[in-house]
Amino acid sequence: MKIFCVGRNYLDHAKELGNAVPDEPVIFMKPKSALILPSAPFYYPQFSNELHYEVEVVLRICKNGRYVEEQNASKYYNAYTLGIDFTARDIQNELKKKGLPWEKAKAWDNSALLSATWFNIKPNEITDDIEFSLKQNSNIVQKGNTKDMIFSFNTIISHISQYFSLNIGDIVYTGTPAGVGECMPGDILEGFISDKSVFLIDIK
Ligand code: MG
Repeated sequence: MKIFCVGRNYLDHAKELGNAVPDEPVIFMKPKSALILPSAPFYYPQFSNELHYEVEVVLRICKNGRYVEEQNASKYYNAYTLGIDFTARDIQNELKKKGLPWEKAKAWDNSALLSATWFNIKPNEITDDIEFSLKQNSNIVQKGNTKDMIFSFNTIISHISQYFSLNIGDIVYTGTPAGVGECMPGDILEGFISDKSVFLIDIK
């Protein structure tokens, strides 16, 4: 399976990190070894001093394909959930300054938290109004709605498929809204889709 991620897909988040608003989806990938479920212990990575959470809606690919047109793209995903694209922001800032690839900041072991609670998408269901949020300890630190994405699910899926094959079981992190921030050992992070808690982890 492959893990695709979209960067800078919410205007308010692109702005908070001082990034330009992209004119096409910013795509990067994480290896399978990045995946971690909420049931496993999550350890603060030893190489970073600035670990950030980025809560994101995650899509599940249900059909193999390439060169998918936008109007057909909704047939290629059938479920969504929530995850965290954990980012070593200090490492990323250094790499960005040097114009180097992001993997050491974004793709390390256990950097992709994935809820085990999936929501199946019915045919013709509207998925551009999904409310989601993240609590750090008891404070809501991120609140988003997929209607605020710069690039829609269908645009993202079509764009990815121009470069990479889509395979059943691949997943796509669709970008984070504003409010990304630091987390520390001892913090509790809880993700919500609407009012439903879909993961809860503590950082060790
Ligand atoms: Mg992200």
